[in-house]
Amino acid sequence: MAILDKQFGEIGVRRNIKSTHIKFSVAPSGQLRVSAPIYVSDFRIKRIIQTSRVEIAKLIKKNPLPAVKKTLKEVESLRLKAKLSLTPRVEALATEHGFKYSKLRFSTASTRWGSCSNKGTISLNIALVNLPDRLIDYVILHELSHTVHMNHSKKFWEHLEYVCPSSKNLKKQIAKYRPFL
Ligand SMILES: [Zn+2]
Repeated sequence: MAILDKQFGEIGVRRNIKSTHIKFSVAPSGQLRVSAPIYVSDFRIKRIIQTSRVEIAKLIKKNPLPAVKKTLKEVESLRLKAKLSLTPRVEALATEHGFKYSKLRFSTASTRWGSCSNKGTISLNIALVNLPDRLIDYVILHELSHTVHMNHSKKFWEHLEYVCPSSKNLKKQIAKYRPFL
């Protein structure tokens, strides 16, 4: 059977006569799998998923390589969508908070959401465009803050919190997502 989860998608559930506890794993396809002893109810599995979201997200993060690769055409249309919607957002946020960057690039290969070079070039993963707005803004403001602090020092995080309130919470939220391409 499978459980449909709002965060992790379709989760494959397998009951195993030999298993003694509930175990999570990630299939090569990127799908989350649960193996459980036969006596464990669906309800209990769902409850464990509910209380282990952070740990599960970490497990998924450690197992990249989703099986469903996007076609070249899909990647190009995502790139266009990202360009059209993220470019004005980066400009607006930079203007609003007085950041200066030199170039904006869009990446696909990266496993990161964004980066900022020491020359002030900001790269954003095109998959970012599919994230909720507040997380898009978080990534953009994170990278823009690197134009002031090229590191993850205390000052950097303070600056980021100043331009992006509740940044710590947003950082936790974005850890649940991966730049699938
Ligand atoms: Zn950073």
